[in-house]
Amino acid sequence: MEVRDKIYIDGAWVPSTGKGTLEVFDSNTEEVIGTIPEGTAEDADRAISAASAAFGEWSALSHEERSKLLARVAEGLAARTDEIAQTISQEVGMPLSLAKIVQVGLPTGVFADIAKKVTEFEWETELGNSLIVREPVGVVGAITPWNYPLYQISLKVAPALAAGCTVVLKPSEIAPLNAFALADIFHDIGFPAGVFNLVTGVGNVVGEAIASHPKVDMVSFTGSTRAGKRVMTLAAESVKKVALELGGKSANILLEDADIDAAIPGSLFACYINSGQTCSALTRLVVPRSKLAEIEEKAKAAAEGFVPGNSLEATTTLGPLASAVQRDRVRGYIEKGLSEGAKLVTGGTEPPEGLDKGYFVRPTVFSNVTRDMTIAQEEIFGPVLSILPYDTEEEAIAIANDSIYGLSGGVWSTDKAHAERVARRLRTGQVDINGGAFNAVAPFGGFKQSGVGRERGEFGLEEFLEYKSLQR
Ligand code: NDP
Repeated sequence: MEVRDKIYIDGAWVPSTGKGTLEVFDSNTEEVIGTIPEGTAEDADRAISAASAAFGEWSALSHEERSKLLARVAEGLAARTDEIAQTISQEVGMPLSLAKIVQVGLPTGVFADIAKKVTEFEWETELGNSLIVREPVGVVGAITPWNYPLYQISLKVAPALAAGCTVVLKPSEIAPLNAFALADIFHDIGFPAGVFNLVTGVGNVVGEAIASHPKVDMVSFTGSTRAGKRVMTLAAESVKKVALELGGKSANILLEDADIDAAIPGSLFACYINSGQTCSALTRLVVPRSKLAEIEEKAKAAAEGFVPGNSLEATTTLGPLASAVQRDRVRGYIEKGLSEGAKLVTGGTEPPEGLDKGYFVRPTVFSNVTRDMTIAQEEIFGPVLSILPYDTEEEAIAIANDSIYGLSGGVWSTDKAHAERVARRLRTGQVDINGGAFNAVAPFGGFKQSGVGRERGEFGLEEFLEYKSLQR
């Protein structure tokens, strides 16, 4: 049981001005594994004032000095990999071995990479009679979700600090303990007071206080499209810069000439990773109608090959969902799929056998899904794949683009050039061709209602910069 009773403001662990606490649950057992302070708008205000006061000195440091400090954050995270991965695995439900790589390895890499990038980046360029200088945007409010909690924090905090900004972080109440570990690391390294601040609490109190605060220059948000719209509305009042990384309903097109045996296992993994709690999950499998029966059979076998279980057990390949709310929401979508007439290929609303406790959902596949069905349009955020058949390639592309979202996508074909032509026609921020490997520094973000702005690598750093032109 991890009891955290203080928040981190101005270089010190201090009590919240509120009296409330929030409980953190093990999604495998439904037991409480920690408590955190339920912060207040006043806490947010104190943290923002500290960040504002610290901005001048932090932004004036040399890139080399900031780089050295950020490299030490990577070292601090690497040293605590096992402990942090175990906590996130319990909070979120990702199998532990994968959590070590994805939930801790990736964010460690983000800090290490930005520490390097900050010294190589072209901070000033000449353009005619102008000198273009990049300057930090100012005080950044970072509001993050629970599905890849530390990674999403790192994608904001690391580039923001590298740019010379100061930060107030409000992590998700569902998976917050890693944020405390990160604050410990900042504290132990001896970051200047006020550069990094942590205020926990619920979104509609602390999150809204950050999004509406006049001293916050930029708010960077990852989460649901619903909350993202609210953040953008609040931020408009003081004309803040806003970066939003929101939901998705990404399509994965198997072209006529796709290698089905290669495509199906990869496609199921791309949908079920982290129990489907992934904004870029490929949740709509768009397939040639002529091959529907074969694909259904193979998808069923691949889905049933996943082993649901406690995320800390080595044999588990599909853990639980992060919360009871999330489990009930996903089961609700499965019910909706059934009532709207989709064909259930495997899975369903019952918990997996022997897993009545914990927030488990069966690996589920629907077929004969049509574009107008709820399960073809809304983000489910669980292990639920929808197969949509098509008759022509034009129709496949139209199905893929028939979404309010535009985050990710996939195309499978034995002819790579053919796959690339189709990929260029998808209105999404990224497309994986034949299961193309993850690239940690390629820009990540959405078209349409999947968001505004890009994260990762140099593109992510630029989000936290203003451009100033000096005419000479
Ligand atoms: P939210 O969008 O509510 O949560 C994300 C973050 O935003 C949390 O820190 C949350 O705080 C905060 N927040 C919530 N409301 C506000 C607000 N009004 N102003 C400012 N901040 C706010 O996601 P949920 O946890 O409710 O998940 C719901 C659905 O959202 C999921 O089923 C999934 O479809 C989608 N989602 C998408 C994600 C993505 O990566 N694109 C990530 C997470 C969810 P709090 O601590 O109170 O939750």
